[in-house]
Amino acid sequence: MDKLEIKLRMLTPLWTGGADGQSDRARETGIIGSLRWWYEAVVRGLGGRACDPTEGGCIYKREQGESHAQAYERLCDACKLFGCTGWQRRFRLSVQVDGFPFDSHFCLATLDKAGSFNHWWLAKIFEESIGARLPFGNVNMHVQFLPDSTGYQAAFQGLLSLMSLYGGIGAKTQYGFGRFDWTERPSAESAIRAIRNQLDSQHLSAAPHPPGYYTLRHFWHLHCLVSDEDPLIQKFKGATVVGDSRTFRYWQDTYLPVSFDIRYKLPGSTSLGLRQSYRMEKGKMAARAIFGTLKGEKRGSRVFVSHLYKEKPSEPNYSLDVWGFTETDLMDKIQGYLRKMFTKMDIDQTVTGPQLLEDATTVPQT
Ligand SMILES: [Zn+2]
Repeated sequence: MDKLEIKLRMLTPLWTGGADGQSDRARETGIIGSLRWWYEAVVRGLGGRACDPTEGGCIYKREQGESHAQAYERLCDACKLFGCTGWQRRFRLSVQVDGFPFDSHFCLATLDKAGSFNHWWLAKIFEESIGARLPFGNVNMHVQFLPDSTGYQAAFQGLLSLMSLYGGIGAKTQYGFGRFDWTERPSAESAIRAIRNQLDSQHLSAAPHPPGYYTLRHFWHLHCLVSDEDPLIQKFKGATVVGDSRTFRYWQDTYLPVSFDIRYKLPGSTSLGLRQSYRMEKGKMAARAIFGTLKGEKRGSRVFVSHLYKEKPSEPNYSLDVWGFTETDLMDKIQGYLRKMFTKMDIDQTVTGPQLLEDATTVPQT
């Protein structure tokens, strides 16, 4: 078998790339970008090598008299799968979205009034997305692998499983988009094992990576359940909308696109919101290093917050995922900040990257 058919269910909309993101090509580019990004983090976590394509990256080129194997060995583990100049990606991806009956359009919401900071900022950076359709439904992925790359299939499934459990897919996951469910996903341990086995078969080219790179070694994830009756949830239901308010109202009992208020600064408070709480405690520079800077978005956030969503419409609780690529002590602080914001919330699952890596190393008891 050299192909995979995978059915995903979006829990928060899949970001397709703005007003011109209607085409499948744009959608696939965004999905492949997020797959590579996560693969790099996992590869680094496992001690493998992942170059930074934005800073040159690998090139496949056979020097005179050189064999394929010699040129291939120079590629980093991420480029071996995702391709680079001279080397083709090992799979072809096509994606088809079955939208829900309701025709959803782009919308985000904030407790700030129109023109106040959070609203102004979201309206500014998503200016081109206003009016765009935003698929929110089932996503069918068809993955066709090149001949001789069948070993990558299990790694691919492992990768997608980790993204489904602990992250998101597509672009703008830092703005709450792209959380998804995949019912047939392998467990986290077997996911990491599959990727490690594939790296081992490729003669894992261990290399230190510069500090600051995203790696599973410095990773944590929180899954929280927030009661429908939480006062802040009630407030969010009356939030100001950026984009299509009809879409917002249609979904609000199962989905609230308010990630920015939670991650950045909660309007109407002086010390709530993850970045704001951290800034009060650690200062401006530290907050920039962890949460990124808004100016030009030159430095991305290392902390990601999903929108609020219900796994099933009948659920009494909204789910909220928060994850970070930082030392794990930040996870404890974030839990405290979240508890200050939501009074009726349970943190029902916490996971760290070191824990995941260790679980995957332990030989299973038979
Ligand atoms: Zn590379």
